[in-house]
Amino acid sequence: MPLATTLQSGDALIIVDVQNDFLPAGALAVPRAAEILPVLREYAARFERRQLPVVNVRDWHPVGHASFRSRGGPWAEHCIQFSAGAESPAGLELPPGAVTVSKGTDAADESGSAFANPQFEATLHTLRVRRLFVGGLGTEHGVFETVCDARRRGFEVFLLRDAVRALNLRPDDGARVEGEMVRLGAVPLTTVDLCQRDPAASALLTDIFEVGMLRAYFDAGMTDTAVFEFAVRRLPPGRNFLVAAGLEQVLQFLEELHFNDWEIDWLDRMRGFSPEFLAALKGLRFTGDVDAMPEGTLFFPHEPVLRISAPIAEAQLVETRLTNLLHYPTLVASKAVRAVLAAAGRPLVDVGLRRAHGAEAAVLAARACYLAGFSATSDALAAQHYGIPAAGTMARSFVEAAVSEEDAFRRYARSDPANVVLLIDTYDAAAAARLVVRLAPEWQAEGITLRGVRLERDDPARQARRVRRILDEGGLPGVKILASGNLDECTVAQLVGAGAPIDGFALGSRLVTSADGPYLDCDYKLQRYDGRFRTRRVEGETTWPGVKQVFRERAPAGRFECDVVALAGEAHEGEPLLVPVMRAGRRLGGGESLAVVRERVRRGVASLPARLRALEVAEPYPVFMSEPLHHECVAAGVFPGTGEPAEPPTGRPPPGPMPQAVAPAPVGACLER
Ligand code: ZN
Repeated sequence: MPLATTLQSGDALIIVDVQNDFLPAGALAVPRAAEILPVLREYAARFERRQLPVVNVRDWHPVGHASFRSRGGPWAEHCIQFSAGAESPAGLELPPGAVTVSKGTDAADESGSAFANPQFEATLHTLRVRRLFVGGLGTEHGVFETVCDARRRGFEVFLLRDAVRALNLRPDDGARVEGEMVRLGAVPLTTVDLCQRDPAASALLTDIFEVGMLRAYFDAGMTDTAVFEFAVRRLPPGRNFLVAAGLEQVLQFLEELHFNDWEIDWLDRMRGFSPEFLAALKGLRFTGDVDAMPEGTLFFPHEPVLRISAPIAEAQLVETRLTNLLHYPTLVASKAVRAVLAAAGRPLVDVGLRRAHGAEAAVLAARACYLAGFSATSDALAAQHYGIPAAGTMARSFVEAAVSEEDAFRRYARSDPANVVLLIDTYDAAAAARLVVRLAPEWQAEGITLRGVRLERDDPARQARRVRRILDEGGLPGVKILASGNLDECTVAQLVGAGAPIDGFALGSRLVTSADGPYLDCDYKLQRYDGRFRTRRVEGETTWPGVKQVFRERAPAGRFECDVVALAGEAHEGEPLLVPVMRAGRRLGGGESLAVVRERVRRGVASLPARLRALEVAEPYPVFMSEPLHHECVAAGVFPGTGEPAEPPTGRPPPGPMPQAVAPAPVGACLER
C-alpha cells in the first residue's frame, strides 16, 4: 500500500451509486451505507481543493428496467429516473463542479458499470483523466464492474477502501471482490494514505481509550486542572544515566494538537459519541503549562523529566503520543552517548536508517544521536530537516557492479572528487589499499582528495593495522580509516582499547534499536487533580507521590554531587532542572538549536562522577528525597523505591539515599557476540 499517495493532475474521484435507494431507508439498502458519506465528503473536498474532477455515476433506470424483479431480474425496483430514490443523499454534498453520468438508462441494459454509458469514458478523455479513485455503494456490483472495465481499458485505479460498502448478500461478497480488484491491479487506499494529514501529526495517534476517558471526564463534568509527570522508573541494562531528548517534538505536538473534521467523523462512526462531546473534542486545543528538563539534560530514575498542568481532558489525551515522543529519543540518545564515550573523541556516524523501526524512528534517531555527540548521519532527510552533517560512502554493490575494483574506485572518485571515502574490503582489503596507493598520484593530479577508506568485515583491528601500514608506506598518512559493520559502544571501546588505528566509526542497527535495552520503563502519571495529590500504590511499581522538582547539587568544580527530588515550590540548594517551557499552550522562547543541546550533553557528561562514564554498571548516582517529599510518601503510606509499604527511616535530616528500585544490571550487559 502506498504511504502518502499524493493527488496529481490526471486524477479523478469516481463516486458510484451513492443514491437514496441504496441508503438505509431506500429500496435496495446497502448495510452501513451512511458511513461512507463523510468519508466521500472528505475525498471530494480534497479533489475540489486540487481542482481535480469529481464524477458522480448514478443508476438512472426507466420504469420496467430489466434488472427489476417485475421483469424477472434480481432486484427490487430502484433508482427510477427523477424519483427521490435516484437522488444523491443530502449527506454527500457533491462539489458544485461535479459531473454526473447516468447508467442503466436503457431498459434492456443490466450492466452496473459506469463504462456501460460511453459518455463516461468520453468524459474521462475530455478531462484527461488517467487515474481513477473509485468509491461507492454495492462494492460487488457497480464499483466492481466499473473497476474491472477501467483496468481493462488501462486506467490506473485506486480502490477507496474506506468509501465502499458491499451489499453482502453472501457475507463475504465485498471482501472477495476487493481481493479480485487488487489482483486486477487496483491499489487499495484510505483517507489516511492520501495524507490528508501527516499521520504522525494526527490527533488520532493516541490510544482509543484516552478518548473514552475524555468522554467519561466530559460526562462527569470533570474539567479541573490535572498535573501529570513523565519519569523513568529504572535504568535499562548497563546504563548509568539517561539523556533527556524529544522535548522539541513534544512541544510541537502540543502546539498543533487538534481534531480535524475527518477525525471527528471517524470517531463518531466508531463510537457514536454525543454531539456535545464531539463539539468539545473539535474545540479541544492544548492550553496548559509545561515544565521540563531541557533536552540534553542528564537524569536518573524517579526524576520527573517533564510536568504538565492542564485541564484534565487535555493532560490526559496527550499521554500516549507524549510518552511515545519522549521515550524513543531519550532511549537512543542514552545509548548513543555511550558510543561517544567509547570512541574517545573519534567521530561517529549514525547509519541506522535501514534498520530503524520505521521512518519517524529513523529520523528521530539521527537527531538523538547527533545531540548526544555524533558527528553526522547517513540519513539525508534527517540531515536536511535538522541541519545535521550528512556523511556516508559507497556500498558494496557499487564495487560489485563495476568491472573491477579499480574501475569502481576511479568512477566513484571522479563523481565526487572532494569527498572520497572508499569501501576497501569487498574482496581483499590489503590489495585494495595497495590499489589506492597506486591510484593516489593520478588523483592528486586531477585534484581529487582521498579522505578515507572504510572497513566493515571481520576483525577490523587486524585489518586496520595492515591497511594503515600500507597507506603510511605508500605516502598516504592523512587518509583516515573508518570502521562499520554491526558495531556498538562495546565493540568501539574494544577497538579503541586495543589501539586499532581506526579514525572513526559508523553505527547502525544496534544503536537505533538500542539492542541491549530496547525500551525504557517509563510512565506519565497523574500527580494532582483538583488541588489534591493523587498517589497510587501498586506492588512493585510505586511512584514517588506529589508534584515535584529536581535540584542538582554540584561540587565547587562543577562536578555533579547529588540530585534531590523535592516537592515543587520547595526552596532548595542546587540548580532546579525542570524549567518553564510552555505557558497557556504557548511556547516560551524559540526553541534551542541542536548545537546548544549537544553542548549541554558534553558538559553534563564531563561533570558526571568518573565512575558513571564507564560502560560498565557503576555504583548509582545519589538521588535523595527532600524531607517534605518524604513526609508526602509517609502520608501516602508508601516507601518509594521498593514498591512495598514499609516503615520509613525516622529522623531523616539530612535525607538518606533512596534504595534502588531494582538491583543493578550485571556488568557487561552488552550483547554477546
Ligand atoms: Zn440498478
